[in-house]
Amino acid sequence: MHRVRVILLNAALGPLDYRAPKGMAAPPPGTIVLAPLGPRQMTGVVWEADRLEAGEVDDKRLRPLLHVYDLPPIAEPLRRLIEWTADYYLAPIAAVLRMTIASASALDGARTITEYRATGLIPDRLTLQRAQALERIADRQGLVRELALAADVSDGVIRGLVKAGAIEAVQVSVDDPFPDPDPDHAPPALEPDQQAAAARFVEAVRAHAFAPFLLDGVTGSGKTEVYFEAVAEAIRQGRQTLVLLPEIALTEPFLKRFAARFGCEPVAWHSGLRQSQRRRAWRAIATGEAKVVVGARSALFLPYRALGLIVVDEAHEVSFKQEDGVQYHARDVAVMRAKMEQVPAILASATPAIETRHMAEIGVYKEVKLPGRYGAAEMPDIAAIDLLADPPPRGRWLAPTLVREMEANLERGEQTLLFLNRRGYAPLTLCRHCGHRFQCPNCTAWMVEHRLMSRLACHHCGHVMPPPRACPECKEEDSLVACGPGVERIADEVAALFPEARTTIVTSDTIWSPAKAAEFVGRMEAGAIDIVVGTQLVTKGYHFPNLTLVGVVDADLGLAGGDLRAAERSFQQICQVSGRAGRGEKPGRVFVQTHDPAAPVIHALVTGDVEGFYAAETEARRGAAMPPFGRLAGIIISSEDLGEATETARLIGRTAPRVDAMAVFGPAPAPLAMLRGRHRQRLLVHAARSLDVQDVIRDWLGKLDWPRGVRVAVDVDPYSFL
Ligand code: ADP
Ligand code: ZN
Repeated sequence: MHRVRVILLNAALGPLDYRAPKGMAAPPPGTIVLAPLGPRQMTGVVWEADRLEAGEVDDKRLRPLLHVYDLPPIAEPLRRLIEWTADYYLAPIAAVLRMTIASASALDGARTITEYRATGLIPDRLTLQRAQALERIADRQGLVRELALAADVSDGVIRGLVKAGAIEAVQVSVDDPFPDPDPDHAPPALEPDQQAAAARFVEAVRAHAFAPFLLDGVTGSGKTEVYFEAVAEAIRQGRQTLVLLPEIALTEPFLKRFAARFGCEPVAWHSGLRQSQRRRAWRAIATGEAKVVVGARSALFLPYRALGLIVVDEAHEVSFKQEDGVQYHARDVAVMRAKMEQVPAILASATPAIETRHMAEIGVYKEVKLPGRYGAAEMPDIAAIDLLADPPPRGRWLAPTLVREMEANLERGEQTLLFLNRRGYAPLTLCRHCGHRFQCPNCTAWMVEHRLMSRLACHHCGHVMPPPRACPECKEEDSLVACGPGVERIADEVAALFPEARTTIVTSDTIWSPAKAAEFVGRMEAGAIDIVVGTQLVTKGYHFPNLTLVGVVDADLGLAGGDLRAAERSFQQICQVSGRAGRGEKPGRVFVQTHDPAAPVIHALVTGDVEGFYAAETEARRGAAMPPFGRLAGIIISSEDLGEATETARLIGRTAPRVDAMAVFGPAPAPLAMLRGRHRQRLLVHAARSLDVQDVIRDWLGKLDWPRGVRVAVDVDPYSFL
């Protein structure tokens, strides 16, 4: 009797037992299979029977598996990582496993698929929709659905264009091999400190053992060049490397830079891939043919055949924390994967998180430091502009000092970056006459005016509406006023001040694909842009030697939320954006506009007392037993029905176990009391480091029942307190 235990890719199901197909031995753990479920069939993975409980089913009643895929089984280290992640983040194993089997089409054997692309022919009948489609997909290729999405038209429009001969079908082999990067293609001549750092990594890669590193060095110190040496060594050893980046907009410049060093691009993995690319990448990763993979956090759970190294670049970035589905932190899971796989992990950052610094301080992570910027480049000077002493004119946001600096910079032909972490034109719109404020109907949030698209938009749920001419409340016409600045408003101010300057806005509204990011980089490098106005999207990674002036429009903004990491995050963000200045031979200058120049964050930035700032923040966390010295978990209860949400939250609060070294706060309405039409209540669990708080929560919630429409999500080690 060949009984096998299978985890199906459905988070609502527990493990189920099946029989091996007729005439076959039981497939080993990790094997990907197709199993019957009632009248349906579902993909699943064979698991060790003794690690998971399944319901009792009589041998005779077991159904046989339908199919066993001809793919390398998911290896033991990854199976243990999947279990660990599910356990630690209180998620169903199937939900984690789904990230491993991230491309259903990859499971089938080699084949070709049909994609479509424009032929260049303009059809006789050119409707508005057709014209729009042809314009937007001019240089694209993909499935009908993908082209339709890219062009924002229906599938029918694309099919019509195929019939009309304006779009043609092409056969694409989905399994074209990827080129192999060459470790010796164009190695840099490292400086002695870089050389020493690289040597430690190379040695660790050779050792094939778990070794977590913190690679700490200011922006522009050559961290990337240094970890590239470790990547080169992994390639020589015939092993795979995973490089995690926080943002897909950063992948494109990274691919180019990698190609310059290794002779070809690495394999990319992110949500922007077409289905065929995803499939090809997945198979190459699973067979070991993809030597270097660069990706967003979802690349972490892929089934690498022979992993040799993991790098987390810009490791302090908050975007490594996944906020929906399985709420995991990719930086932390990356270290855990390295441990399971027995390989080194390098966390690279100019502004490591307090959690990471602490691990280095207590000796769990090995710290590798790069002392200063590479070559002649110096760190920029940072100065504060006191907005009370040096205020902008009424209705303007840039202080006279900053404006003078911008003018001088323009005259020198150098580039300027203005940073404001706020998309759109204005964060709030209200009626001058009656004071009515535009709020999202689905969320506790103001509608944000976007003049470029002439819309009001909710940044939480995506709800949009045209800006009304009259106030919906008092019916007064043309009475709406914008309050406060967003990047678009700053760009308007810049245009008024410097009409001849070439200005560009960089936010997720303008840079929404790797191709857009590449275009922006190209224009910057070609000197076609004088002034960039951007959100956090421009704070990281980019290297523009002619960018010499950075203005932080509102340094107080990041502190407003006031959660436990607010000061740290502001500090990191301003450091990172400052790090864009003066990366070439010309020195950089940074001006930080603030109402509170004496605030510890600003003081640390201006005096360069990084260590002092971190020490004070760390002590404050230690004193309050906050992470990493204590543990937090958020419990979010949400429902479309306000009463159900509150009732369930009260039930959970009432039944909170009394455990030493643990305190439960709430329930209370979440700061975002409504999100996407769901009412939200929050509890916060605070516990000592030593307590297995997940176990307590599992027990506690496991005993409770709530109505079907209620969702209870646990966020272990939360980063968002909204
Ligand atoms: P970081 O990742 O620390 O911000 P980078 O690795 O991006 O720093 O290096 C900053 C710039 O200096 C890049 O343009 C990089 O190519 C260059 N650079 C750093 N070290 C060297 C070196 N040893 N030889 C040549 N160029 C270098
Ligand atoms: Zn909304």
